[in-house]
Amino acid sequence: MPEKNQIIKAEITGMTSEGSGVCHVEGMAVFVPDTAVGDVLNVRIVKVLKSYAYGIVDSIISPSQDRCERRCSVYKKCGGCVYRHISYEAESAIKADIIENAFKRIGGLDPVFDEFIAAEDTDRYRNKAQYPLAEINGEVVCGFYAPRSHRLVPVSDCPLQPEIFSQINETILRFINKKKIAAYSDETHTGIVRHIYIRRGYYSKEIMVCLVVRKDISRQLAPLAEIVCDTFPDVKSFVMNINPEKTNVILGKKCVTLRGDDVIRDTMCGNTVEISPLSFYQVNTHQAEKLYAKALEYAAPTLNDTVADLYCGIGTIGLSIAHSAGRIIGVEIVPEAVENAVKNARINNISNAEYYCGCAEIISDKIKDTPLAVALLDPPRKGCSEEALNAVCSLSPEKIVMLSCDPATAARDAKRLSQHGYNAERVCGADLFPGTRHVETVVLMSRKDK
Ligand code: SAH
Repeated sequence: MPEKNQIIKAEITGMTSEGSGVCHVEGMAVFVPDTAVGDVLNVRIVKVLKSYAYGIVDSIISPSQDRCERRCSVYKKCGGCVYRHISYEAESAIKADIIENAFKRIGGLDPVFDEFIAAEDTDRYRNKAQYPLAEINGEVVCGFYAPRSHRLVPVSDCPLQPEIFSQINETILRFINKKKIAAYSDETHTGIVRHIYIRRGYYSKEIMVCLVVRKDISRQLAPLAEIVCDTFPDVKSFVMNINPEKTNVILGKKCVTLRGDDVIRDTMCGNTVEISPLSFYQVNTHQAEKLYAKALEYAAPTLNDTVADLYCGIGTIGLSIAHSAGRIIGVEIVPEAVENAVKNARINNISNAEYYCGCAEIISDKIKDTPLAVALLDPPRKGCSEEALNAVCSLSPEKIVMLSCDPATAARDAKRLSQHGYNAERVCGADLFPGTRHVETVVLMSRKDK
């Protein structure tokens, strides 16, 4: 067994879904961050547990061929990226492997794996950022939290975000510091400004700036709304979000528009969509369009088919297939997102889509009399609850197409569906989050008796 502080020569032979390299020392798996398959290293053991250990790089004896540097001044300090020290080709191969392994090992399934949809843009691809604020040396700064901590790492320009976000941040911070508005502290639950949250339409370039505050300071912020909108003409909406809770959930329930519109617009799969600050919207529009195209290929509805779009958000997936289906029924838990979905159907002259606000777990009550051809599921990271899967299966759709940003929960849920009479037919991964550990998956399940 390796011992703490021991330095051992080892070769990295695999990667975990968290982005750590894996090597084996005396038969024990050792996880080493910031490494690449093929690295031969001196590893310093930092923690030994029952069946595995953690190490850090002491020195590199011979580097992996995958290694290359992808520019970022705070890489390894901020908790965002885990793959900026290897090539994007290596990163996408790792992500495709993680998905295959999850479905085989966690799911015990044997689907066909379609070609992984790698990203075209590996930087500046995000359309949304949420920057926590903190006071450092008497000055309010924004940045991102260090891995697994609440310690702020100041970041002026994150290479995943549009460059204009950092210019907007600077303008906001200058105002906040001049007016001596205090940054919120989650330890003491004092101070005012909690987060800067910015979203930009990928095609429209329309920007929403949202300042998350502990209490209503609209009078104080009114001049800032003017400055930001006048300086950056693409800012079409300036919103104050009030979050009075002692919580690490970023947004509160109440939004006050201080200038411009309550929503911004973008185009997704050819449809114009309105997006409220509280609604979910995929952070990588271009890649999401490719993922949704794959979901549509898997769903392959006919013009007579009813399609349920569960966890529908602002309706993007269902609306993208409305012209190929008979009827779309969307279900979503956030009321503002449902409002957006209803309006988005109307703006695009889609009359065969209807939306319900509620949890996916009660879908069967809403549509129990409608024979369902396809159920689309796009749950949050934690996946679907057993109740939601039972509700869906009780409607016995011919196909279930499930999208997920966590291959492990996707594989778990696909396994549960396979126990309810569905076959995992095909799986496809898509990279919506280059640089980071995250990856999207879409899986096609078909009823075994069909
Ligand atoms: N399909 C949409 C949204 C996917 S994100 C898109 O691609 O844009 C997941 C969505 O599920 C979020 O909008 C979230 O608000 C919603 N949600 C979370 N739990 C839910 C539940 N139990 N029932 C219904 N919707 C839920």
